[in-house]
Amino acid sequence: MVQNFDTTIECAKRLDSEDKLSAYRDLFQIPTNKNGEEEIYFVGNSLGLMPKESVNDVNEELSKWGRYGVKGHGAEGGEVEGPWVTFHEPLTVSMAELVGAKVSEVTIMNTLTVNIHFLLISFYNPTETRNKIIIEENVFPSDYFAIESQVKQRNLDPAEVIVKVPTDNKGVLDVTTILETIKNVGDELALVFLPSVQYYSGQVLPISKITDVAHSVGSLVGIQLAHGVGNIELKLSDWKVDFATWCTYKYLNSGPGSIAACYINEKHINRTDIQRFHGWWGNNLDTRFEMEKNFDNINTADVWQVSNPPILSMVPMKAAIDMIIEVGGVKILREKSIRMSVYFDFLLNNNLHEEIEVITPQDLDSRGCQLSLKVVSNRLSGREVFNALLSSGVSCDWRYPDVIRVAPVPLYNSFVEVYNFVDILKNILKKE
Ligand SMILES: *Cc1c(COP(=O)(O)O)cnc(C)c1O
Repeated sequence: MVQNFDTTIECAKRLDSEDKLSAYRDLFQIPTNKNGEEEIYFVGNSLGLMPKESVNDVNEELSKWGRYGVKGHGAEGGEVEGPWVTFHEPLTVSMAELVGAKVSEVTIMNTLTVNIHFLLISFYNPTETRNKIIIEENVFPSDYFAIESQVKQRNLDPAEVIVKVPTDNKGVLDVTTILETIKNVGDELALVFLPSVQYYSGQVLPISKITDVAHSVGSLVGIQLAHGVGNIELKLSDWKVDFATWCTYKYLNSGPGSIAACYINEKHINRTDIQRFHGWWGNNLDTRFEMEKNFDNINTADVWQVSNPPILSMVPMKAAIDMIIEVGGVKILREKSIRMSVYFDFLLNNNLHEEIEVITPQDLDSRGCQLSLKVVSNRLSGREVFNALLSSGVSCDWRYPDVIRVAPVPLYNSFVEVYNFVDILKNILKKE
């Protein structure tokens, strides 16, 4: 990539003036610090900001509840606009676009860890000889707890069946080691469960390659997209992954604890030889309210739905996801994201190369919005630097054992914020 950067604030301002997405920042409410100034909000990888439009949308839905009561469901064929019984349908269409899947392969339901449980019930089917699961050593605890408890539920020993791909001393995975581990476990391998973007290091994994190798040894592949969706381009159908799940409150800006989603490869949808935990929302709408006891399955990924969904949690997805589709999808976000990432690196290299190490891989295909910074200064610890950043009105986060995660998000962050962040960091690290 041609770089025409320099270390002046004018350069940051020029980059913002050339940015086609700069107008979108105004559509979000930016948190303010104690002086009433807008924070540098670099934690969209943890909780994305609120689109202002979502306030109206949620209020509108509440007033629908008030006006119509149960008729709001629209199950009895009333004239309610956007009836709740089919409320998820347009969102599923947009969601499928964001993850590169067919609409029939996507369903919106539950929350992320709950979905890992539901999907493992269907796709972790250990036999006497094929029962191992490959995960990464530095796996997110909630994912690990889900997997470990699912293994125990099958009366298997986690120490025997869970194989962890090691990370290097910085917390980064070596792709060759992942592929070798898959080949070595070979015909004992039941499932590979990995993130598309690793939460600690911000590393992007080559899911297509991993899936091909896993399939070649007869294993299934499940992918965690918590940090991938809305951040990097995804092509789940082309990559042929078997299943995936993601939350919507990080780069999808859909609100704290907002409803999650799943992808199930179409080849698995109508299988009768796998388990699913059923509920009435997986029953065809035509017959759902006849209250029959024979399950009449929907023939899309929606068959995994269990309960009638929390509509008020789903509503903010509308404005948030429409906005991403409107700009031209993640492809367009990614162009700015890469530019920001390269600029960020440039400033860090020029100002702080002796104090800060970026552990996120340099290669642009191996990183998304997030950079994970390790403080290598011998004057201040990482934790001290992090605390100083917080007191300077920067929102970023700390992950044990020793990284500061910062994620400039293309929809609402600016190049000037990146500049100011590095400037603040410089003041913290270089002051006498
Ligand atoms: C954010 C995140 C979660 C959160 O799980 P919830 O069930 O939504 O609370 C789980 N795993 C990973 C890897 C995450 O990044």
